[in-house]
Amino acid sequence: MSKAINQISDSDERSILDSISKWLQKDVAPYVMEMEHDDVYPHEMVEQMKEFGLFGATISPEYGGLGLSASTYAKIVMMIAEEWMSLSGIFNSHLMMATIVEKYGTTFQKEYWLPKFVTGEIRGGLALTEASAGTDLSGIRTRADKSGERYVINGTKTWISNGIEGGAVALLVKTDVAATPARKGMSMFIAPKVDPDTSRTYSGYQTGKKLEKLGYKGIDSSELMFDDYELDAQRHLVGGKEGRGFYMAVGGLELGRINIAARSCGISRRALREATAYSQTRETFGQPISQHQAIQLKLGEMATRTRASELLTQDAARAYDVGERCDMEAGMAKYFSSESAVENALDAMRIHGGYGYSKEYPIERLYREAPLMCIGEGTNEMQRIIIARQQIERNPV
Ligand SMILES: Cc1cc2nc3c(=O)[nH]c(=O)nc-3n(C[C@H](O)[C@H](O)[C@H](O)COP(=O)(O)OP(=O)(O)OC[C@H]3O[C@@H](n4cnc5c(N)ncnc54)[C@H](O)[C@@H]3O)c2cc1C
Repeated sequence: MSKAINQISDSDERSILDSISKWLQKDVAPYVMEMEHDDVYPHEMVEQMKEFGLFGATISPEYGGLGLSASTYAKIVMMIAEEWMSLSGIFNSHLMMATIVEKYGTTFQKEYWLPKFVTGEIRGGLALTEASAGTDLSGIRTRADKSGERYVINGTKTWISNGIEGGAVALLVKTDVAATPARKGMSMFIAPKVDPDTSRTYSGYQTGKKLEKLGYKGIDSSELMFDDYELDAQRHLVGGKEGRGFYMAVGGLELGRINIAARSCGISRRALREATAYSQTRETFGQPISQHQAIQLKLGEMATRTRASELLTQDAARAYDVGERCDMEAGMAKYFSSESAVENALDAMRIHGGYGYSKEYPIERLYREAPLMCIGEGTNEMQRIIIARQQIERNPV
């Protein structure tokens, strides 16, 4: 199951990070505030991310991707999320879909889909959640019924990132609604809106309107409706076999959790950076507020949380890269980093006083972005349960 990683040198990694950093300063930072507040999809930035190869960041070079390790990928995500978390969501969700194809797809499926995913020609995400089933995926109702060589899919997904602008999703369905446990009756399909071979738009695939959200603006989240939507087994049923979809979703979420942890690090870093700078320029009682011990206590906690989040994230990424089981490590990184992002955003707001609450400063955006990190890719309640189960399993008495 482990895939080829393009082991790049430290200097190559530095040069990738430098190019992305320059791009962020020149072509992203000046526009974030307006695009975030107007909830505008960043089409031009997506084109630039395609040029950087970010839609193929973790896909193996044999399919045209950069084949970056999860460690390098996490550093890129941290950097982008430090500028605008929404931007990282556009390729992170896409790469979860790609990871599922690369880890579990047939040779034919990898050769068919991955080169299209690498270029961003087809972008997408992961469609698991339904109105009545998020954490407990056994409750999904979307089903695929076999009819000859084809599957007929009916159901509705919700909250799907890249749902409108994307061209395909990895779609979790039930192929056996009577299976017990339910997860054994689940399968994963690569579900495109348009058939890449014929350019025909599938009439059974409908997209809902862009959902209104607290934060994570710019990127589209929407419902997806499937009404007698027909796919074939050879191209679309991942791995060519029914019954393995749940395990594929869980497998895709490992990288997903590392990237949520990395996004959280980006939010924490930005909150720390803004608070450190502001505290040295804002004066009260004749001195910069950075000289007040109450502010120093906050900065000390923020800096420690940020560093600990980065280290946990790198630890999980390292385990992922060497093919070790890393649900515990990814869970710890995701849980700790996202809770830290929430705390850092709030501390940065307190340090900024009234200005932290103003839309003219980035702090209120960080404060709206951070809580999503506690929910996405498995809520933090579930992460703690996963960590505890592993703690017990790895330490039997
Ligand atoms: C902006 C945004 C983008 C999203 N993008 C996507 C996407 O691209 N694809 C996708 O498939 N989904 C996406 N989601 C959905 C997200 O993954 C779910 O919201 C999440 O999994 C939680 O599911 P739920 O909302 O149904 O909450 P529920 O599952 O109903 O949970 C409600 C509460 O109960 C807790 N809980 C549930 N079960 C247990 C338990 N056994 N023990 C303890 N506590 C428990 C949860 O932790 C939570 O606090 C997105 C959501 C948002 C808000």
